[in-house]
Formats: sequence, C-alpha cells, structure tokens
Amino acid sequence: MSAIDPIRYARIARKVRGMPASDGAGVKLTRVIGSGELPDLDPFLLLDEFGTDKAEDYLAGFPEHPHRGFETVTYMLDGRMRHRDNHGNEGLLVPGSVQWMTAGRGLVHSEMPEQQEGRMRGFQLWVNLPAKDKMTDPRYQEFPPEQLPVATPAEGVTIKVIAGEVGDVRGPISQPATDPVYLDIELAPGVAWSHALPEGHNAFAYAFEGALTLGEGDDARPLAAQEMAVLGGGDMLSLKAGDAGARLILVAGRPLREPVARYGPFVMNTKQEIMQAFVDFQEGRF
Ligand code: MN
Repeated sequence: MSAIDPIRYARIARKVRGMPASDGAGVKLTRVIGSGELPDLDPFLLLDEFGTDKAEDYLAGFPEHPHRGFETVTYMLDGRMRHRDNHGNEGLLVPGSVQWMTAGRGLVHSEMPEQQEGRMRGFQLWVNLPAKDKMTDPRYQEFPPEQLPVATPAEGVTIKVIAGEVGDVRGPISQPATDPVYLDIELAPGVAWSHALPEGHNAFAYAFEGALTLGEGDDARPLAAQEMAVLGGGDMLSLKAGDAGARLILVAGRPLREPVARYGPFVMNTKQEIMQAFVDFQEGRF
C-alpha cells in the first residue's frame, strides 16, 4: 500500500443532451434521463428539465396520477407548483424549494402550476428505492429556499446543498438507501472548484446556465448549458467556469444493482409486482 493514494479525477464518460418530451396533461419538457439515449443511471430513473416562459407549455400541469416504488425529487427554480395527494398532504413549491417525495407503496397526487403567466423552471429527478424499501410508507422531505443551506467554499463558488455535504455544510435530505448528493452549483466567470464525490456512487452533472470545463489535464472537456455529463474515471470532480460563469446541478447516488421492472409511474423489481401495482391502484389501495 502506498502512503498517499493518487487523486483520481472524474472525467466526462459520456455526454447526453435531453430530448423534447411531453408529460402530465401536455407539459413540454426536456427528458435527459429516462428516454432512448439514457434509459437510466442507477439509481436514477429519470431527469426532466422544465423551463419555459410560455404559459401554454405548462398550464395543463400534472393532474392526478399514481407513483409506487421510488422517489420523485422536484427542485423549483422559477414558478410555483401546488401539490396534493390522496393522503391529505398538500403544499406549495415556490422558487428555490425542494420536495423529496418517497412514494413507497403508493400515492396518487397532482402537481399543478399556481400561476397563469410568467416563467416556470426546474427539475424533476426520479430516484429508485431498493426492494426492501419499495413498499414503505409515503414520506415527504420538503424545504423552502430559506431552509436549504448555502456553502461558499471558495470565492465565486455558491452552492445550494440539497443533499450530501460541502465542507461543514450538510444538506437536509436523508436517504440512507442511496446516500444521495444533490448540489446546485453556481460558478462566477473563470472560477475553478474541485469536490470529492462519495466513492462508488454513480454521478452526473447537468449544466443549465453558461458553460464550463469538467476534468483535469488531458481529460478536461467542455460542458455547455443543456448538456449532461455522466461522470466516470474517479471521484474527484474538477470544474472551471467559462467566461460567462456557469450553473449546474451535480447529482450522485449509490447504485442499487437490482433488477428494474418499470411501467410508467410504477418502478418495481419484477413484472409481477408491476401487475400487482395496477391491481392495487385500480382497487383504491394507494
Ligand atoms: Mn408525480
């Protein structure tokens, strides 16, 4: 054994651009994980970016629909979304808020815009649950912007810590099954920053403003807004913003390495469990 392990830098193993998609009652969005190009990135099942100034692209919202077997994470950047479920939970997601919803054995909910005009922007991420937790009770971890800690580890680096840690700053989300990291990172023009990710996690970075370079030395590659980098090669992430600065989400999670049986809003381990989800939903057991 060597006394000092060499730093292994992450590189862009693969670049993915989202595909235009429509969901709910006709909301226009960009699907980055969960479609043909990248069906999943264990434990992540889906990543949608929604962002539009046109009310007709979002007004129809996401009327009542079920979920079972995984978690949905909504991070609002602009706009307001009201959610309601069949267990009596209700809340309003305002700009900068996060809802980490563990659907578990099932719920039926709606997610509807609470505005008639203006900008709607944000992300929805689906995180899988291990077999042992798929039928757990539904649970919400919901935080308004003032309860999300902000880390400033260096000059020109501002990070909203939703899950995981940056230095002494710890995000409020708890999920031992996948031990997630979810950071909203803003870099001022030309600023560089490095961050160690948990070893063995799958990770991606999705740029949504400006542009940056990811990786070190010969492995440094550009990443532009609306591009996602699937990370590989090492756990030390090195970022450098371009001349206009950059903003990105960095997301990582421990892979579950379990079989995935998936149909629409149900994600289980076997086809039989999917069929049972249909029966339970139709018979009102959600
Ligand atoms: Mn939903």
